[in-house]
Amino acid sequence: MDPIPASKCHCGKISAPPAPFCPSCGKPMEECLLPTYGRILSYTVLYSPPEGFSSPLSIALVELEGRAKFLCHGEEKGLKIGRRVAIERLDEIYYFSTLSLRERAELFWRRRGETQQKLKAIIRSLSRRVRGSPPPGGIRAASQ
Ligand SMILES: [Zn+2]
Repeated sequence: MDPIPASKCHCGKISAPPAPFCPSCGKPMEECLLPTYGRILSYTVLYSPPEGFSSPLSIALVELEGRAKFLCHGEEKGLKIGRRVAIERLDEIYYFSTLSLRERAELFWRRRGETQQKLKAIIRSLSRRVRGSPPPGGIRAASQ
């Protein structure tokens, strides 16, 4: 998953999406990237959500490493305070997911529909590298 673009201030404030100036102290902020993993601090489930949202609507407050907090949408299943989740951004909305890393990896490959071919290609290139001895210095031209 892609890291989340954000900005941080010397005072410790983190803003995502990135802001040019700190909302707390008004000083210029530096752009940074946030990890996509965090923990659920709190959550709520709305059974009569605002128009345009399907019911039930689960909203979790997720704290990432670095203390940035995000309100995220996600599935009701697996909501638990303290639970480790992954978050990602789609169309300006943050989503959390409680999938395990393994499940996420499988989903990722399936989405691209090339699991087997991709794995075979990786294995092939690895074994080629092991068999062929690299020139002194270990750097080989990219053309083959
Ligand atoms: Zn600040």
